[in-house]
Amino acid sequence: MTKALINIDYTNDFVTGALPCGQPAIDIEKEITSLTNKFIADGEFAVFAIDIHFPDDSYHPETELYPPHNIKDTEGRELYGKLGKLYQENAHKENVIWMDKTRYSAFAGTGLELKLRERGISEVHLVGVCTDICVLHTAVDAYNKGFKLAVYEKATASFNEAGHQWALQHFKNSMNAKIL
Ligand code: ZN
Repeated sequence: MTKALINIDYTNDFVTGALPCGQPAIDIEKEITSLTNKFIADGEFAVFAIDIHFPDDSYHPETELYPPHNIKDTEGRELYGKLGKLYQENAHKENVIWMDKTRYSAFAGTGLELKLRERGISEVHLVGVCTDICVLHTAVDAYNKGFKLAVYEKATASFNEAGHQWALQHFKNSMNAKIL
């Protein structure tokens, strides 16, 4: 186990629900599901790093920025489409973990770095939404912590196409990420 797939925020709310990326996110369903399936089948580490919020959380910085989304125990927080079924079928496996996150970055306030270090993982592969928000912030943290990066162009998406393209260029040109 040398690499990890970090699967970011591909939930109903972020695809078609309360804070949707819309069609670009719908369009990656097949690719994000098959990539995730491959990582799991190959015995690599697959992390589902999923935004969690609580109703009326006046202390959270996103409360002033966005409508309520990914609220604990709601359908909006469930994984979208076929990815949800894939997770359910594989959730019991040792190389598959679910990680609640409360900020954009999958490293912020979570045990992700420890989970990666204890497995000797040096390379982090990113898929999910939005390319220029949660994927970007996760990539910045991974870069600063010394992980090698790979980002899948056809398995990331944003509501903002210009932001998506900018982020991919930034991963490649400023973080030496492989764009796959
Ligand atoms: Zn959020």
